[in-house]
This record gives sequence, C-alpha cells and structure tokens, in this order.
Amino acid sequence: MIRCHQLPLPGQTVHGQSITWGGGGKGANQAFAAAQLGGDVAMIGAVGGDAYGSEARAALANAGCDVGGVRTIGATSGQAIVLVQDDGTNSIVVIEGANGLFDRRELLGEADRLSRAAIVLLQLEIPFETVVEAAALARRAGSHLILDPAPAAVLPERLLQSVDIVTPNQTELAAMSGRQPGDRPAIAEAARALRARGTDTVIVKLGAEGCLLVDSDGERHLAAPVVDAVDTTGAGDIFNGALAVALSEGREIAEACRFAIAAAAISVTRRGAQAATPTRAEADTMFR
Ligand code: ADP
Repeated sequence: MIRCHQLPLPGQTVHGQSITWGGGGKGANQAFAAAQLGGDVAMIGAVGGDAYGSEARAALANAGCDVGGVRTIGATSGQAIVLVQDDGTNSIVVIEGANGLFDRRELLGEADRLSRAAIVLLQLEIPFETVVEAAALARRAGSHLILDPAPAAVLPERLLQSVDIVTPNQTELAAMSGRQPGDRPAIAEAARALRARGTDTVIVKLGAEGCLLVDSDGERHLAAPVVDAVDTTGAGDIFNGALAVALSEGREIAEACRFAIAAAAISVTRRGAQAATPTRAEADTMFR
C-alpha cells in the first residue's frame, strides 16, 4: 500500500509518502483471524513460488494456522497494489496470480483435509468452479458452510442452496439481489429475498452499525460498539473468522455474531488487515 497526497493521473509521476506491505487475501485474512482467536484452523489455497508466497505462509503459520494445504502454483502470488490519497480515495490493481490457478484439480488434492473440517469458510477469490466444488465436497462431508460472497457477484441458486450461512456486506447484498443499497427496511427485505433463494442464515455486515441476522427465527439487528475507527480494511474478514470460531465453540448464532462484532470493532481501531486482528483476550474483553 502506497500513500500519496494525490493519485497519479495517466502519464503522471507523483511522490508517495509511505509504502507498507501486509498479508492479505480474504481467505488468508479469515484463516489468520480464526487461528489467532483460538480456532483449530487449516488453510487450503495457493501461493506462487516467490518470496511473497513464503511470507504469506509464514504469517499464517505464526498465527497457529496449519498451512499444509497451501499449495505452490505458478510463479506469482496473488497481490494487490493499493494507492491511497490523502482524502482516503484509492486505486487498486489486483494480480490474482496463484489464486487464479487454484482449479478443481488442485482442490481435489486437498479433499481429505477439507472433509475433516467441522466448519468451512469460503470466499470468491479463487475460480468460481473451485468454490462450487469446495461447497459440494464440504456438504457431502457434513461440514457447516459459511460463504463470504466477496468480491461482489451474482451467485447461482445451486451455490446458495449448498451453504448454511452467507455473509454479504451492503454492497455485496446489493450485487446479489440486483437492488440498490438502501435503508434498514430495504436491506432486511433484500436479505429475506436472498434467504428465500436457499441459504438458511443471512448475516448482512453493516459497518459501524454491526450486522443484521436473518434466519428461521426472524430478523435481529445486532449493534456494534462505538469505537474510533481508523482503518476498516479487513474488518469483514475478521468478522467471518471470529464468527467461525464462536460457532465451533458451540455458541448459538446471535451470540456468535456478537463475538464477531466485538473482534471486528477492535480491528477497525488499528491499521492493516491481519495486523489489526485482536488477540482472544482482547476480543473476550470487548465481547463481555
Ligand atoms: P466489509 O469489511 O466486508 O466491507 P463492513 O464494513 O460491514 O464489511 O464491516 C464488517 C464488520 O466490521 C461490521 O459488521 C462491524 O461489525 C465491523 N465494523 C466495521 N466498521 C466498524 C466501525 N466503524 N465501528 C465498529 N465496528 C465496525
């Protein structure tokens, strides 16, 4: 990530104020958060045969995540070059690298590992067919499936029907439902419509307002604590990692959402994504 006073126009060169490197990718951030918050976590995915790939693996292993299922494919690890100007406006270029090469065949090489999971967290930063196959494998193994529908996409019924929980933010909910983001009643209506397409539980992440939980018990708005937010990068990923940990410990869904809200609220008070993940003790203190 490069910070500069103004984003360069085409053909222009500008001076930047700082450059920082941090681990990322939605899957890696969620695995990192779940492991640091005390979950028993294995990551399945791919990096390239470059130094960034080794660093990404090492960061996850340091957090306590089993990285035996992180394959090395191709030359380049997935990367995002983020330019941020003073008012927060950004420009981002994503190189999918190894993530784009993580196909069905690579996934099937990790089928045993996947089948051992009680809870599977899926995102959409690998080829879509691989996501569909992972959902089918996990379903057959009887795992509980949480899908983070990010980056925003229109999803087919067969995928929505094979996951237990879907966790869009407001933008993703709008993309999935083909509606403009709206006020709370409009969000609730879009979430109900999404649920009607086959996913048992819909959790809409509402930024500073927490989340809206829509399931067979109806709708519940769960508020976030008021904090001094400095950087919300990765907040949604930390939410998902924490949600999975709380569910794995047997908490019921609204309690698990409250734990996720607590962990994500701490993360927005810190810069970075993985680097902003709280410890379990910090999350527990905020949760109480
Ligand atoms: P994403 O990061 O996927 O865009 P959100 O912006 O909704 O999703 O953030 C995810 C979660 O992080 C929210 O549901 C909320 O619990 C927490 N969060 C985000 N922004 C804030 C904030 N300003 N204050 C407190 N919690 C926040």
